[in-house]
Amino acid sequence: MTKATSSIPVSARAWLDGRFGKRADRHYRVRVVVQGAFALLCVVLGVQFARFVSAAQAGTLPLPSRPAGVEAFLPISGLMGALDWFYQGSLNVIHPAATVLVLVAIALALLMRKAFCSWICPVGFLSEWLAKLGRLAFGRNFKPWKWLDIPLRGLKYLLMGFFVFSVVVMGRESLTAFLTSPYNKVADVKMGLFFTQMSTVGLSIMGVLVLGSVFIQGLWCRYLCPYGALLGLFSWASPSRIRRDPATCVDCGLCDKACPSRLPVSRKLSVISPDCSGCLDCVASCPVKGALAMKVGRRTVSPVAYAAAVAMIFLASYMGARATGIWNNQITDREYVERIQNMNSGEYGHPGMQND
Ligand code: SF4
Ligand code: SF4
Repeated sequence: MTKATSSIPVSARAWLDGRFGKRADRHYRVRVVVQGAFALLCVVLGVQFARFVSAAQAGTLPLPSRPAGVEAFLPISGLMGALDWFYQGSLNVIHPAATVLVLVAIALALLMRKAFCSWICPVGFLSEWLAKLGRLAFGRNFKPWKWLDIPLRGLKYLLMGFFVFSVVVMGRESLTAFLTSPYNKVADVKMGLFFTQMSTVGLSIMGVLVLGSVFIQGLWCRYLCPYGALLGLFSWASPSRIRRDPATCVDCGLCDKACPSRLPVSRKLSVISPDCSGCLDCVASCPVKGALAMKVGRRTVSPVAYAAAVAMIFLASYMGARATGIWNNQITDREYVERIQNMNSGEYGHPGMQND
């Protein structure tokens, strides 16, 4: 293992630790505010959903309202829903918000690279803070040797390929059958209970990921997240790019050190890597005004404009889905009570496993 952050000037080092007070810190604060707002939203949704599930378990009708936003944590169901929408011409009524959110994340990737990962995703947010904790505790993060790093980075593409392939080969009828299966109807509840009643194996895996993220920056995002891998592929088509102006660049290398994806920004004219999350940390760290910028065509996009665009696209999509009546599913309270109370019966097993 080698040091990830060595020989960095004191001011830049302080900024990387979140303690810098100038231009970089302004950008840093904007991103933390946006990420924090989305993380807080997830907590609120989680609490509302817990109340909904508890009431259903107790059979208390009418149930408190179910926050459809929790379907953000069902990306595979969302992907299936998107393909099913393409096949059927209408959006499924089981987890429509999951499909809307997957399509919004893909649209964001097409427009603004993997902005979903660095500005919205609560896992990315948590992961960044765990890495900061590691830097505060040990003065550094570690990065695996190159011979190990490269194959490990391929893992997320393997996982993504597996999921996408599994969804695509299902075919039209099986896809619809899965989406309307008892298993999928309570997939959100199962997912919630997975996190609140975690098994020893689940806890151990989570512990390894959390601890590993303290030592290795972005352990989950860099090596394992299939969702990020998919968005990275879409981001290749994005007109947004980090561009470096070699005429004004002083080759200080600060952008390389700031980049959480460890991209060699100072050696590129334009960053096209699918690992670029559009976090703009490299831009914030650059000491030369105009040497490095996020550009759409020839236009420079400021961090504040970028943040506003991310938030607006996301909120506009949400409000559009609500206004057109495709946000909430059509499962009634009575049906939820019946299904949640019987969720441990064989009928609610994974359809793929049942066929085996
Ligand atoms: S190149 Fe810049 S915008 Fe892209 S991930 Fe690295 S620091 Fe973030
Ligand atoms: S782009 Fe900016 S931060 Fe990167 S090497 Fe050039 S001057 Fe330094």
